[in-house]
Amino acid sequence: MVTPGKLAELIEGEPILEAEDITDANRSCPECDGDVLAVGYMPSVTEFVTGHKCQECDWSDDDRE
Ligand SMILES: [Zn+2]
Repeated sequence: MVTPGKLAELIEGEPILEAEDITDANRSCPECDGDVLAVGYMPSVTEFVTGHKCQECDWSDDDRE
């Protein structure tokens, strides 16, 4: 099982400061229809992002504008 920090780093593509617990995003992957995980994390001290990552493929996204 991937840790919240590891999952957040996968989504962000670089090390992050802190991550909250992983939750089920209750949505399907737009690429493969797989289950999507959600994790809130802080890429920097002033920013909080909620990221999403598919469990089945490489698709990921965050809630930045
Ligand atoms: Zn997928």
